[in-house]
Amino acid sequence: MTAQKMQKRLFGTNGVRGIAGKDMTPDLAFSIGLALGRMRKGRIAVGRDTRTSGETLGKALKAGLLATGCDVDDCGILPTPALQYLVRDDYSGGAMITASHNPPEYNGVKIIEPDGTEMGDEETIRLEGLIFSSRPEVASWDQAGKERQVPHLINRYIEGIISRFCGLPGNGMTVVVDPGSGPACVTTPKILEGLGCRVLTVNGIMDGTFPGRLPEPSAEGLKNLSDLVICSGASFGVAHDGDADRAVFVDEKGRYIEENAEFALVVQSICRKKKGIIVTPVSSGQVVEETARAEGSTVRYTPVGSIYVARTMRTLLENGEPVIFGGEGNGGLIFPDHQFCRDGGMTAAMMVSLLAGSGKKLSDLVSCLPERYIIKEKIAVKNGDEIIASLPGCYPNSRLDLTDGIKIFSGDSWALIRASGTEPIIRIIIDTKTSSAGNEFSQELKSRLKNVVE
Ligand code: MG
Repeated sequence: MTAQKMQKRLFGTNGVRGIAGKDMTPDLAFSIGLALGRMRKGRIAVGRDTRTSGETLGKALKAGLLATGCDVDDCGILPTPALQYLVRDDYSGGAMITASHNPPEYNGVKIIEPDGTEMGDEETIRLEGLIFSSRPEVASWDQAGKERQVPHLINRYIEGIISRFCGLPGNGMTVVVDPGSGPACVTTPKILEGLGCRVLTVNGIMDGTFPGRLPEPSAEGLKNLSDLVICSGASFGVAHDGDADRAVFVDEKGRYIEENAEFALVVQSICRKKKGIIVTPVSSGQVVEETARAEGSTVRYTPVGSIYVARTMRTLLENGEPVIFGGEGNGGLIFPDHQFCRDGGMTAAMMVSLLAGSGKKLSDLVSCLPERYIIKEKIAVKNGDEIIASLPGCYPNSRLDLTDGIKIFSGDSWALIRASGTEPIIRIIIDTKTSSAGNEFSQELKSRLKNVVE
């Protein structure tokens, strides 16, 4: 039932990415356009985030699409979920020029399927085959595609989110938005104003050099957001990554909310209205499952990557199973009634509705969640896959989950060990009830790994 991971040559879990001009070149963008145009004939929507290399790469990709005979609608600068929302309605596919949370010098491409989801592994492998094929097919002179500029379509996305909420739940609420100079500058403030909020912004002007903070919305980078939340008396602050498919929060005291706690809060709110299944990767914090269970719902686990979550949600729903919500423990949440992809703008709107409905302060809601302790580590190794394959033998009496890497359960604790797909390291997440249990588990695991590595 759960989507399985397949190895690809060029694309990672969320598209292809690299340093612009070095790995992610206009040539490569053109080849991706040619390949996508051959696979998804018709009209393709193209969008980009605010990165300085986006215009060049976008033009190269569009040239490839047009050469195959596809028509192109250029949606301009917009969040990835906004492009996904538009593609689902009217297009045979989409391409988003973005490197998401990566530093400013990076860029990349995410391919969007006609149903608005990111392209899955099987089709991506087909696309890669066409990118590497030595004989690209282009249309004859009288069959070349046409391009239209459609920047106004972004309003459909903004209105689509606002229309999901009744009345003005944000009335009387001040919210500070930090879009990080990314495309959410033109969406999240409008969405929250549409819900009745008074909105202030930090890093609210689009700028591909990201002068205020890096595209990754880390706690350290959000000091200005926290300060403005505190001094403006805001109910909360929300920040996005570089393409705004993720949203992270600070509470009314300016304190960063760990993303698994954010996920759990939304799970709690949704499950109180409707019980069902929450879909999430094996890497998500135990606080999510504990919260879901406390509300009479269950959790279904997938490999790590939002595409596996989205596709598993769809498949379960098609089989008549009551999926109500999904997401990752990094602020990427998927609202199936809205669309099957992570959506930072929708997540920000949900926080307004959740707070208004609770009548409580955000810090109070967070403090009522089950307490968990998480340790994240990485170990430099050359043969990560081999090491992980040998681990089940070290734990003959433990419950194991092999959905992605190896997850070892011990009482109410667990450890997840995965090999990185891009670096010679293994990543470890340990999730326990107390810090002492976490440190003990970490020591025990590392001593075993030491034996295996040597
Ligand atoms: Mg992103």
